[in-house]
Amino acid sequence: MTREDLIKAYKGFINDDRITIYIDMDGVLADFYKKAKEMLALEPYIKYPQSQYDFFRNLEPIKDAIETYKWLDSQEMFNVCILTAPSVLNAWSYTDKRIWVEKYLGIDVCHKMNISGQKHQSVGDYLIDDNFEGKGQDKVIGKLIHFHQITNNWSDIKNYFEKKYILNKHETELPSQ
Ligand SMILES: [Mg+2]
Repeated sequence: MTREDLIKAYKGFINDDRITIYIDMDGVLADFYKKAKEMLALEPYIKYPQSQYDFFRNLEPIKDAIETYKWLDSQEMFNVCILTAPSVLNAWSYTDKRIWVEKYLGIDVCHKMNISGQKHQSVGDYLIDDNFEGKGQDKVIGKLIHFHQITNNWSDIKNYFEKKYILNKHETELPSQ
């Protein structure tokens, strides 16, 4: 059985033929690295700034991330969900991430928010993530689209989905692999 067959069978089982797109938070929607750098400069004795209460809720959104998320979410053929790993030793991270999502994306998106360090357990067509591995990214059933925070390829990602599913409906290369 191929990955495509597995996804097709799963969609048949749950009776939902939409394209499911999972989107990571840290380094993709939320600027984890900017905040971590700022805090390390201010408080170098705290080795892991992400261990701090309210770290995650105060991250800035990455440029174009919110707009692109909302655009994808507004298309009927897409089922867009958050898929983010918690900072397990910081129990507040679960709450902070939920607060962040409500603030920038709204309460409806909180209902489609998966907090898991085992990303391969969420079955979907795509995962947009800044890491290739570490939290199950290398084992996801769908396609992994790599997000580059340095070049910020949100517009490439939007173009990919627009071209493939909305405009031409033809096969096109995944952005920035
Ligand atoms: Mg990430």
